[in-house]
Amino acid sequence: MTEKCGVVGIAFDERDAARPLYYGLYALQHRGQESAGIVTHDGFQQHSHVEMGLVGDAFDEGDLESLNGSAGIGHVRYPTAGSLDSSCAQPFSVSFKSGSLGLSHNGNLVNADEIRDELAGLGHAFTSDGDTEVIAHDLARNLLNEDLIRAVKRTMQRLHGSYSLTIMHDETVMGVRDPQGNRPLCIGKLEDGYIIASESAAIDTLDGELVRDVRPGELVVLEADGSGFDSYQLIDADQTAHCFFEHVYFARPDSQIDGTLVYESRRKLGRALWEESGVETDVVMPVPDSGRAFASGYADAADETTADGEPRAEDDEGVEFAEGLMKNRYVGRTFIMPTQNERERAVRLKLNPITSTVEGKTVTLIDDSIVRGTTSTQLVSLLKDCGAEEVHMRIGAPPIVAPCYMGIDMATREELIAADKSIPEIGEAIDADSLEYLSPDAVADVLETDRSDLCMGCVTGEYPYDIDGEPTDRDVTRPSIGGAALEADD
Ligand code: 5GP
Ligand code: MG
Repeated sequence: MTEKCGVVGIAFDERDAARPLYYGLYALQHRGQESAGIVTHDGFQQHSHVEMGLVGDAFDEGDLESLNGSAGIGHVRYPTAGSLDSSCAQPFSVSFKSGSLGLSHNGNLVNADEIRDELAGLGHAFTSDGDTEVIAHDLARNLLNEDLIRAVKRTMQRLHGSYSLTIMHDETVMGVRDPQGNRPLCIGKLEDGYIIASESAAIDTLDGELVRDVRPGELVVLEADGSGFDSYQLIDADQTAHCFFEHVYFARPDSQIDGTLVYESRRKLGRALWEESGVETDVVMPVPDSGRAFASGYADAADETTADGEPRAEDDEGVEFAEGLMKNRYVGRTFIMPTQNERERAVRLKLNPITSTVEGKTVTLIDDSIVRGTTSTQLVSLLKDCGAEEVHMRIGAPPIVAPCYMGIDMATREELIAADKSIPEIGEAIDADSLEYLSPDAVADVLETDRSDLCMGCVTGEYPYDIDGEPTDRDVTRPSIGGAALEADD
């Protein structure tokens, strides 16, 4: 179950939370388009509305009005090929002996099956095969014996993998980020309350102020009267495993993640790309929208120095930045179309070249990443058909050689064009005159992080988690799960 999603949680004193949650989800729509949901609590009971589809379609006026209460959480779910399954839509909500629980999850657990098997053996009945329900049941079980903070801690000690969560226990709204901080999560102050959200863009949308990121291993509990929050550092890990791909592709450029503005990171990655492998062409052109910030950084750097790293002479006009591809904004994400044929058609539907900016010119085309190679193959041939003399491709991230198990749906190993091809072979396959990627070290440099504090599994094939059949890049073992251990602990 791969889930790359958006989560949000809000607590006000008096105001209804539903509408701000709805706008917050709108701001996080890029993190998931399969389903959207909100669960609120009015002090007596939970209200829930979860539906398949986009945020704007999932809720009508009546739905929002029925979501009573000044506390709530929300979720947008990322579509995973083939699993259009409403039983996995979130927030997940349950009522149990010690109250009600709502849960929104972004990320992916490595050991969900082990925990599910154990809990099923203890009599828990599961309605989905998702890992979020596993967290909910584990937490519900712990809450029978312990206070909230200890119960959350005990659940966290059993989870292995990636999770940024917003949780609602009765009226109490909380945020939890896994000890490696794999997925983003941040805290914001609103006019009369507090918010926890996957990305700061959701806070901006509500005219709030970013307070800070939720720390890896931290539990944040919002005050019920909207006046503040309490912090509990529940688990300390030696290293983080922040997903570098959030900065490269996934997050909104106007979000701040772990202290850096994503747009700035992308521009710097573009600059680094010029410094590592710049090529002198007539024009530099982004693949919209994902390549835009990279291309602008790349073109800026190209104005200052030549591809050999020399300062440009006064009369050297350098490289022209041009928007040569226009995007039809009514076409959804092509990446998730089920068949290759449909994906190719969709790229053509989505992007159309402006002939005059490419005809007779040498072109550098910039994108953030190549996954299957569909987009770049199509675009190189499109630009050549329009009369481009040469098309050079530059990519603002390293080659994606292995799948993501941590919540980004990147296709299987067989589908990844870089899984079994060298860079020159990929260049040939997409018919580019040259192709270069950015190095993993340059990515770490730009993010001002040690490589060992990033999750780079998809570009190195080595993971910061203990995943069956895959090598690790550090000393990690998943917690051992078993009925006996749980009994003993209790
Ligand atoms: P490709 O066409 O090579 O399969 O995919 C590359 C394109 O997909 C790039 O333009 C990139 O911006 C985008 N992309 C990369 N990763 C993802 C992802 O996880 N989801 C979606 N929807 N698009 C992605
Ligand atoms: Mg793209």
